[in-house]
Amino acid sequence: MDIQRVSVIGAGQMGSGIAQVAAQSGLHVTLVDVDEARVNKGLQTIEKNLGRQQEKGRLTEEQKGEILGRLHPMTDLAAAVAEVDLVIEAVVENKQVKADLFRQLDEHAPAHTILATNTSSLPITEIAAATKRPEKVIGMHFMNPVPVMKLVEVIRGLATSDETFRVVDRLARHMGKTPVEVQDFPGFVSNRVLMPMINEAIYAVYEGVATPEAIDEVMKLGMNHPMGPLTLADFIGLDTCLYIMETLYEGFGDSKYRPCPLLRKYVAAGWLGRKTGRGFYVYE
Ligand code: NAD
Repeated sequence: MDIQRVSVIGAGQMGSGIAQVAAQSGLHVTLVDVDEARVNKGLQTIEKNLGRQQEKGRLTEEQKGEILGRLHPMTDLAAAVAEVDLVIEAVVENKQVKADLFRQLDEHAPAHTILATNTSSLPITEIAAATKRPEKVIGMHFMNPVPVMKLVEVIRGLATSDETFRVVDRLARHMGKTPVEVQDFPGFVSNRVLMPMINEAIYAVYEGVATPEAIDEVMKLGMNHPMGPLTLADFIGLDTCLYIMETLYEGFGDSKYRPCPLLRKYVAAGWLGRKTGRGFYVYE
């Protein structure tokens, strides 16, 4: 099966990026959010990004127009998925919300349609169980910012078919990404490896081993990381970091994934990183 029409559900940070890259690779995209204001905000972000590419000479005015012409903002979920080959869900990271949404997608999308989720940590197998087509449900985990980052973790749920995997793998390559196959376990690979490192860096602050600046400097200069773990945690959002650590802790039942008490304290204080102006660093 060749994918030609795609629906992206959720026009936030990730959904708008996914819709942009899909439209740039020639696909027809319906972009859906709960109201017009949000879906238009997603579209504006895409227009701004394409405008920047045009300024840099990577895109002509005509190409920009064509890409925008392939993007259709919508708020009616049933209509948006009625004729698509693939749905990519990128709504809030909440199991109940995603399960309800997948139930609706299963009802309104054609029988051949593959249902993918961009979840960073929730079990694909559980989301698939909300539908009557678990063999057509798969994880497609893009990285932020989507237009820039090459990786897509492609996560197979327990029932995901080989055909579904093949179609999604091919599509990710068509979108200019590099797919990597991963099985459905907590945190997949990306967050299973990244988050314990961030959590350990927070423990180092908590135990007074060094300042956040010093820890970030060690990891940048010593390990050649482009960004220190605490700067990265502030960028991701400390609430998201805590949520993912909780998922690992609960999923594996192993104390090595225990979220650092300092991380809990910052989240309780509303110090969530860049988005609230304060995390391990202060942002003006
Ligand atoms: P976001 O808050 O920027 O966007 C979510 C959007 O979904 C919002 O615009 C919201 O209005 C919309 N939405 C909520 N419920 C909806 C529904 N029922 N129907 C349609 N739209 C709905 O969040 P985000 O950062 O884009 O994250 C989205 C997903 O991507 C999450 O599952 C997250 O874990 C995952 N993810 C995030 C990152 C990241 O770095 N932010 C990276 C990889 C994956």
